[in-house]
Parts: sequence; structure tokens; C-alpha cells
Amino acid sequence: MEWKTHYERIVGGTEEEKDMAFNKLQDLFDERIKEFSKYELKKTPEDLEILKKSETIVNNIVARYGGRPKALPIDNIYILKPGSILTITGGRFSGGIHRPIRLKIGVEKGESKLLFASTFGHELFHLKSYKSARIDKLPVGLHVYRSGLSMYKYDRKNSNEGKIEEKEYFAMLEEAIISECTIKFIEEISKDPILKEEAEAIRKFKDWIVAYYLRIGTSREEKVREFERELKYITDPQSKVEKVLAFSTDEEKRQEYATKMLNELFKERELEEMERYKERKNLYELLDKLVVSSNGKFKSRDEVFKEFAEANFSGNYLHLARIIESILGKGSFRKLAEEFSETRKI
Ligand SMILES: [Zn+2]
Repeated sequence: MEWKTHYERIVGGTEEEKDMAFNKLQDLFDERIKEFSKYELKKTPEDLEILKKSETIVNNIVARYGGRPKALPIDNIYILKPGSILTITGGRFSGGIHRPIRLKIGVEKGESKLLFASTFGHELFHLKSYKSARIDKLPVGLHVYRSGLSMYKYDRKNSNEGKIEEKEYFAMLEEAIISECTIKFIEEISKDPILKEEAEAIRKFKDWIVAYYLRIGTSREEKVREFERELKYITDPQSKVEKVLAFSTDEEKRQEYATKMLNELFKERELEEMERYKERKNLYELLDKLVVSSNGKFKSRDEVFKEFAEANFSGNYLHLARIIESILGKGSFRKLAEEFSETRKI
């Protein structure tokens, strides 16, 4: 039987228990969740169009990296009022959230269509990463075992107060892979007519600032290029571009003015950077190290990234493990799993 849930495998339990677990996963997949529906906004035709286009782009990227993306029903996606995720998560997250075992996404909708799409895209990459579940004795029940490169393990021994420690191996690498894919997604969706106007205004505003810094002869061109790559969004970009255009007919004066505006935007937090900078930076360092130590097997960061993304979306991580161990030595894959892990008490 072909299940609609994205889970491809269940680890542990008898055959009968596995069958029951698949049924349970299917129920969880179909069920509406109150936690999100309490804050839900009705989807407009424009929302539906953005969600549909976003899913197509995400599916293409996932397939490019060897995944077999399964459909996510529209009812599994909740558009939420601004600020509700902070309430749902007790202040831990904002903007977007996903529930892996139930395969649900909550995404807040504010002024910006670009932010709405990119937040949704990010969460959708998480859900479309390879999924397997595990029947556990501790804590009893059905849990996510693997989500992409991440692998969960539960332990009571390192924990006091009777709590169980949840350790997610490769957690930060998975987050970096998802964020890197989201950057590729933003590039794609920015070309779509539905977001084009907003995306082009951001581009134009950025171009002025980059031109300004390069013109005044900054010695840190690398920094300028990094700013160019990392700035994702400014609030109401179209009106900001209008303002700069109205300021002067001279391009150099416009560049200077836009740069001054940027400083204000920083102060007021009226901008947003590409997500998970720290995690991506660590990933880039690892990729570069693998390129350098690979004896010519890999020529670029992108080539190695492809191996990581393929492991994340196809679930076949043994291939990646072999590559890493052949370059960095025996035991290095396990070491990386540990280095990039996260632990929490549950
Ligand atoms: Zn994430």
C-alpha cells in the first residue's frame, strides 16, 4: 500500500506494530491540529497561488538532489496571524514552524509576499527531507527517527529530574542544508511575476548600496559581496526605492542616500538577513575543508554540497559517509554527527 504520509520506513517493533505505526502516521498526517488552527487565517486565492508555486519549486530542487518529493495537502498548511508562532512556541520561534511527525506547517503572513514564500519554502524543505520513524520504549511511542540528515536518539542516563534527553545528530548540518536550499528557492521564486515587483525593488536597493561601497574604494570588497548575498529583505521595498529615485536624478547621490537609509533600517530592524548564517558558515567551512583535502576529487564547494543535499533528501547517507571517511579518515562521519548535534530535555 502506498501511504500518503511522507514516512518511508519504520525502525523497531514487530511487523504488526509497524503496520499499526503506519496507520497511526497516516492518521496524524490527515488530522487537523488545534494548536495551529486557533490562529489560522483563511487562505486567499493569492496565498494559494504562492503556496502552489512555492511547492513546485521546492519539489524541483528536492528532486534535483535525488529526493522523491511527496505532495503536501493544502490542509496541512496553516497560514497564521502575525505573532502567533511566538505564542505557540513560548517565544522560541517566529515566522514559520513545522511539525515533522504530523507533517504540518504553520506560516505567518505579514506585509511581504517574499517573506511569506521564503518562510514557507524553508519549512517545506524540512518536511520534504527523507523521513523515517521509530517505535521506541523510551519515551514510549512513535517518534521521528530521521528527518533528512538529522537522526534522533533518546537517553535517560545523562539526564536528571526523570527527564529524557533528546539528541539530534547532525541537527545543525541539516538546518544549514535546508537554509542553503532556501536561498536557491528565493532566487527562483523571485523571478515569478507574483513576487517580481517586490524582489526587484530589493535588488535595486541593494545594487545602490553595493555600488556606493565599491565606488568609495572599500578595501573589504569581500564584505560588500557578503552583504549582497546575505540581505534578504527590507520592509516595503517599493516605497523605499521610490524615495531614493525622488531624492536625486544623480545615480551617485542615490547610492549615498540609499546607504544612509540602510543604516536607519538596521537600527529599526526593518530588514531581514538570509536565515541561519552561523550554521551555513560552519557548513561552508566543512565543504571547503573537504575540497582541499580531497586530492582533486572535488573541485568546488557546490560539488560537495550536492553530496550532502543528496543524503538529506534521498536518505542514503552511507554514500556520504564513505566519501567523508575516504577524505577525513575513519570515524570522521560519526565525529561530524556529534559536532553538529543538538541536545534538549523533553
Ligand atoms: Zn529550519
